Amino acid sequence: MQIPRSHPRAASLHIRERLVRGYRDGLVVEEGLLAHGRGEMFDYLIGEKTSKTSHEAIKAAARMLLLAKRSVISVNGNLAALCPKEIVLLASVIGAEIEVNLFYASKKRKKVIAGILKKNGAKEILGLDAKFSQKIPNLDSARRVVDERGIFIADVVLVPLEDGDRTVALKKFGKKVITFDLNPMSRTAQAADITIVDNVTRGMQLLIDSCKKMKKSRLDKKFKFDNKKNLSQSIIIIKNNLGRMTHA
Ligand code: ATP
Ligand code: MG
Repeated sequence: MQIPRSHPRAASLHIRERLVRGYRDGLVVEEGLLAHGRGEMFDYLIGEKTSKTSHEAIKAAARMLLLAKRSVISVNGNLAALCPKEIVLLASVIGAEIEVNLFYASKKRKKVIAGILKKNGAKEILGLDAKFSQKIPNLDSARRVVDERGIFIADVVLVPLEDGDRTVALKKFGKKVITFDLNPMSRTAQAADITIVDNVTRGMQLLIDSCKKMKKSRLDKKFKFDNKKNLSQSIIIIKNNLGRMTHA
């Protein structure tokens, strides 16, 4: 579809196109398209820009990733369709593993996702070989399979666009969890250690920039981050935006 540049929602429509392409190419499932719709709605409410609050969360995430002993970026279909380059770049900047981990698991789709990541420069991709499968406790069977070389032994896991149940299970399993989630009220957002309330299409590059910058300087030992407070600030942003639109 041709989207005129002058269209006021051009950026959002282009992102939709990327997901639709991802769906046609077998990366994204129907449910992923719906999850994106939920994300779009929250992006509308936060003003479709990265807030100061989210910049703070990005800084905290960069610090946690750089301090990690073993970090893993967990990739699903939507993330691979939206920012394959950024996944590979971030992994190389912080020395993280990349693991394909799907809510709606399918061998074929895992392969397609791995193919896109490889095309974008990824060398090793975990989560593909059943030989290395392990199970995280407290989750029903299909969704709990992880790679024993990746998420299973990681201390920090970046799980953008994740489901709440899985986030809670990862936390119970002792992982530090960083997520991107446009909905500050979701169970994932509330359960994670650090929630970046931003669209991954904006936030991933900002996270890479922040990691690169922080790598060159000494990590601030006194840096403190309160996720609940940060999430409250995002909810206040939504409330204020709604207030501006309410004239009654
Ligand atoms: P939870 O299970 O955490 O309570 P949920 O069931 O409402 O959340 P899921 O479909 O499980 O939602 O997870 C998808 C999450 O990803 C949603 O909260 C959605 O707002 C968010 N999301 C979708 N697209 C994007 C995007 N491009 N950038 C950031 N977040 C997104
Ligand atoms: Mg969910």
